[in-house]
Amino acid sequence: MCSPRLPAPPPLSAPPPLSAPPPLSAPPPRPAPPPPSAPPALPALPVRLDAPDPGWVETTDVVVIGSGIAGLTTALHLRAAGVHVTVVTKVNVDDGSTRWAQGGIAAVLDPRDSPAAHEADTLAAGAGLCDPVAVRLLVTEGPARIRELIRLGAAFDRHPDGSLMLTREGGHHADRVVHAGGDATGAEVQRALRVAVDRDPWIRLVEHALVVDLLTDRAGRVGGVTLHVLGEGSPDGVGAILARAVVLATGGMGQVFSTTTNPAVSTGDGVALALRAGAVVTDLEFVQFHPTALAAPASGAGQQPLVSEALRGEGAWLVDGDGMRFLLGQHELAELAPRDVVAKAAYRVMRESGTGHVWLDARRLGGDFLARRFPTITAICRAAGIDPARQPIPVAPAAHYASGGVRTDRSGRTTVPGLYACGEVACTGVHGANRLASNSLLEALVFARRIATDVVSSAGATSLIDVGELKRGAPLSSGRQPGAPLGHRVALQRAMTAGAGVLRSAESLSAAAGELVRLAGPLTAGRGTGPWEQANLLTVATALVAAGYARQETRGCHWREDWPEPDPAGRGHLCGALRPDGSFSLVWERA
Ligand SMILES: Cc1cc2nc3c(=O)[nH]c(=O)nc-3n(C[C@H](O)[C@H](O)[C@H](O)COP(=O)(O)OP(=O)(O)OC[C@H]3O[C@@H](n4cnc5c(N)ncnc54)[C@H](O)[C@@H]3O)c2cc1C
Repeated sequence: MCSPRLPAPPPLSAPPPLSAPPPLSAPPPRPAPPPPSAPPALPALPVRLDAPDPGWVETTDVVVIGSGIAGLTTALHLRAAGVHVTVVTKVNVDDGSTRWAQGGIAAVLDPRDSPAAHEADTLAAGAGLCDPVAVRLLVTEGPARIRELIRLGAAFDRHPDGSLMLTREGGHHADRVVHAGGDATGAEVQRALRVAVDRDPWIRLVEHALVVDLLTDRAGRVGGVTLHVLGEGSPDGVGAILARAVVLATGGMGQVFSTTTNPAVSTGDGVALALRAGAVVTDLEFVQFHPTALAAPASGAGQQPLVSEALRGEGAWLVDGDGMRFLLGQHELAELAPRDVVAKAAYRVMRESGTGHVWLDARRLGGDFLARRFPTITAICRAAGIDPARQPIPVAPAAHYASGGVRTDRSGRTTVPGLYACGEVACTGVHGANRLASNSLLEALVFARRIATDVVSSAGATSLIDVGELKRGAPLSSGRQPGAPLGHRVALQRAMTAGAGVLRSAESLSAAAGELVRLAGPLTAGRGTGPWEQANLLTVATALVAAGYARQETRGCHWREDWPEPDPAGRGHLCGALRPDGSFSLVWERA
């Protein structure tokens, strides 16, 4: 980069006489924004999925949908209060994002650190859109929740003297991230929770059970779910579970993009279920792209292995093709800057160089340290033919985390009575426009307990809804139609990556919307787990594109190339809802 040319110094002369200061001039005008264009047409969305009426009905106190950290922790807290819980999960109990988490869980566990410092880091990452009260709850209640997890059996890494090992991740100004098995934190957390759930005969776990829709009574209160359980009856055989409350713990929506760190189950079902039940969703445009997913030539599309930023926390550098550290001078924390800063910088380098990746150089950490501290990453790299002790690792951004989701209050209540949301599916307000690294597992722990407390105090008195009272909306289409071939799902993912990925503009988002309109018919046709997931993907993609288009500014992890600056008027939330006619609507709410 050239340094600016200095003007020639003025000739020495007598100081000018004192005079009135010149009037303050107006700040230089902001570049003129592009003229607003008409919002793109969006597809009509299903208000209920095409499924047969339930062939069987069961009852329980609370249905928890999902078996990651949010679902299992909520179930355990509810059980501790004597509530009968049924956990339903789409595939196997361990198949969500939780077991893939590498870096760890952030919480103040070092006396030299403070909740105020954790709060400040969280608010800074959230770019003006965090709910400060929710953040305060997160950082003050978090340490106790970690200790509970330890008492439950989760074995975090410790120093020889028995104290917890704490590391630092992007955006944190202190060492406050606990980890397990080096870089296998999620696997250990999922294991510990699963063992605890298995120990309790009063938690009913139903695997291979995809929740199709939520059941509401005539007053609009959620009182159960319809679900398809693999192996029960015909392939499209569906049952119902009635409950006093339903907790969405369905995880993220990374599968809406072509490349993601999320597993196959992360199809945004919870957001789509909530919308169809009348709930409000918010902040959906804030999708965090992890800057360093493995980009080895054999990686292909779909779920990509993550190369945790804990590696950067230990001193690995991000470099371009010439070996230059491109984050130096861009942010005071360089490689440990918030993820959006790192992802954008990496994307710019990739775009300018025309390559599909940048490099993460961990060689200076040494082979022994890498194998001991990062056994999972080392194994992943070796499987891809890369020795991280000798070679830089090719990495690229991939869809990683949904900062927004189903809007909740501080007790995890959604805007629909009887319906709660916990974990990545929820928007509690702690992440704002961008999640701080390792705050998501913590959020699930903190709000799972708050939800259980609220359910016990408020839903306990609620009676089960009468089967005859269940609201039956008309399905989107009647009768059986063939489901859309897989190609349509892939087309949706490609359109979203191209139009609503790391780089966005009115033009790219309009193009994505056009493609969604084109794909809507086939994506919402047919019955069965594949077609139902596709309808959910379409719903989430539509909501995301609408919000991304409406937010005409760059903020947090939402990067508009045509609006490259934050707009003070954008300090608000876009709240979305599904109208009875299947159209998606958005309203602004000031932060
Ligand atoms: C590779 C990777 C690394 C990460 N590293 C970290 C980290 O170090 N620290 C951190 O804080 N966060 C990390 N995250 C994020 C964090 O792991 C997730 O946000 C968190 O695990 C989400 O937990 P959850 O319980 O909300 O959802 P999940 O663990 O994803 O569980 C969702 C569950 O819902 C089920 N489900 C979905 N739809 C349906 C349906 N229709 N019917 C029935 N069941 C359904 C799924 O099968 C699954 O059981 C990482 C994420 C990934 C992908």
